[in-house]
Amino acid sequence: MALRTLDALQLAGKRVFIRVDFNVPLDEAGKVSDDRRIRAALPTIRRAVEQRAKVILASHLGRPKGKPEDKKKYTLLPVAERLQELLDQEIVFADDCIGDGVKKLVKELKDGQVLLLENLRFHPEEEANDEGFAKELASLADVWVNDAFGTAHRAHASTAGMAKFVKEKAAGYLIQKEVEYLGKALLRPEKPFVAILGGAKVSDKIKVLENLLAKADAVCIGGAMAYTFLKAEGVPVGKSKVEEDKLDLARAILEKAKARGVDFMLPVDHVCGAEATATAKREVVNDRAIPDGLIGLDIGPKTLDRYRQRVLSAKTVFWNGPMGLFEQKPWAEGTFGVARAMAESPAVTVVGGGDSAAAVEEAGLVPKMKHVSTGGGASLEFVEGRVLPGIQVLES
Ligand code: ADP
Ligand code: MG
Repeated sequence: MALRTLDALQLAGKRVFIRVDFNVPLDEAGKVSDDRRIRAALPTIRRAVEQRAKVILASHLGRPKGKPEDKKKYTLLPVAERLQELLDQEIVFADDCIGDGVKKLVKELKDGQVLLLENLRFHPEEEANDEGFAKELASLADVWVNDAFGTAHRAHASTAGMAKFVKEKAAGYLIQKEVEYLGKALLRPEKPFVAILGGAKVSDKIKVLENLLAKADAVCIGGAMAYTFLKAEGVPVGKSKVEEDKLDLARAILEKAKARGVDFMLPVDHVCGAEATATAKREVVNDRAIPDGLIGLDIGPKTLDRYRQRVLSAKTVFWNGPMGLFEQKPWAEGTFGVARAMAESPAVTVVGGGDSAAAVEEAGLVPKMKHVSTGGGASLEFVEGRVLPGIQVLES
């Protein structure tokens, strides 16, 4: 798969429309409370500014439903303010993303100036991938750059529909990096390749699991999904979360792993509580089986050590899904332990999934990873082996 990339284009003097992912959380006061996604888009924006393009930025924010109060709740104005600080340059803000007012602002843009359009999803045509709307957006631009990896799994007007109405198109640096690492972890992993999978449900991760079974040397399972696998093997799991209707599927996955010679590792000990609360007593169960009345809430220390050794001796590690209920301190050690092992490992380390990325961020270990994906759902779909519409249209 060859992506058209930003570096191949001459941007000077051109109207460059960059679809970014500025879908950031806002606090009570309406200020940006986590600017990771804005920062992740900076390399592409800076490149366009340095090349003296007329830069037009567009994004969605939240899920506005067309109610009048939504215009205030989901405005991108706070993002414009934060971006202005980060870029250290004036950001022109448009109060819509199409229409005569926007056309006028684009016309007045000088080379190297940056314009941010208002929330694309104020128009339902965006998500409907309406052709007329896509054309309207495209009429603002000579070049379309997609750098919104977090929305690349959606075929919306600005993430895919616009592509056929612009003269030139390219992937931004963020999408390029996501494709390089998620693609590398998936397609041509340096061996040994270890996958660590956790999270809430087996059912969320079936396709990811199946795809990884074809490539990985070892798969280390944690999180609530581990108990469905243990139960499928006939191991008692107490009151732990189990997807009863996925037991057959779990057995099928275990069989497949065996047939392919993948070392499919399940927890050999657990951290349990009588309740899934932050104040419940933390009990380490030094056995595969969990006693009646207890809930498995994290992998145990022996399990962590086994997974850790795997991570340290791997050449590629892909991690998705926390090892326990890490949002509560008593059950966080397994998740942070895996994050630390990855940080210490010389392997190409790739993290995908929204909650997993949040855990790495909380541990302060993002700089120690080779790549932490900015796309939650998009990164999983990518690792499932699906073609993302926002990326497909960038292939040459
Ligand atoms: P990601 O967003 O990284 O793909 P998931 O959404 O699949 O991850 O799973 C994350 C959630 O799984 C977290 O909220 C975490 O608390 C929960 N979780 C993990 N292990 C357990 C467990 N043993 N019991 C309850 N919840 C768990
Ligand atoms: Mg999640």
